[in-house]
Amino acid sequence: MARLIFLGPPGAGKGTQAKVLAELLAIPHISTGEILRSAVAKATPLGQKAKDYMEKGELVPDELLLDLVRDRLNQPDAHNGWILDGFPRNVSQASFLDSLLQEMNQTCECVNLEVPDEVLVARLLGRGRSDDTPEAIRTRLDIYHKETAPLIGFYRERSTLRAINGDRPLEEVTESLKR
Ligand code: ADP
Repeated sequence: MARLIFLGPPGAGKGTQAKVLAELLAIPHISTGEILRSAVAKATPLGQKAKDYMEKGELVPDELLLDLVRDRLNQPDAHNGWILDGFPRNVSQASFLDSLLQEMNQTCECVNLEVPDEVLVARLLGRGRSDDTPEAIRTRLDIYHKETAPLIGFYRERSTLRAINGDRPLEEVTESLKR
């Protein structure tokens, strides 16, 4: 039974690797970024609220995500495990997840994909998603360092945290993750 949180900066390859690993393990890959992007594309109420934050590279308000994550983790396909990608992104989201998992009598493990900032910027500029403008990238990296990176310590104390070097060819990173 695998319940995994993928931590790491934007552009680290969380989405790519989480997708591959989730397929191998036959568990859902839950990406809050993808869920939000699809909500924006469909212009749902959630998407309309999230759009401006995402374009600027800011975090969308916690309250837009908490119910969404609770509902997703309670769906039948998540009973045999999951990979969370892009959540939690700050300490308050992590505390929420902590209590949620306690309520559900579940534990999780954590993977931290490490990639230096200069590599990230090059990757994100090359990707060309609509929120990959130089300004939004700078904002996302700043927010990552201020709000998300502290979660490495949070999970080191609370659960199993594995650091994986993400500055390598895709297949090598996948091999490390499998091991
Ligand atoms: P990346 O990791 O490359 O920044 P994501 O697809 O994970 O991309 O997220 C894209 C955007 O969606 C973020 O910049 C943010 O605005 C929003 N987002 C995704 N997950 C969260 C979250 N857990 N909390 C707040 N905002 C989020």
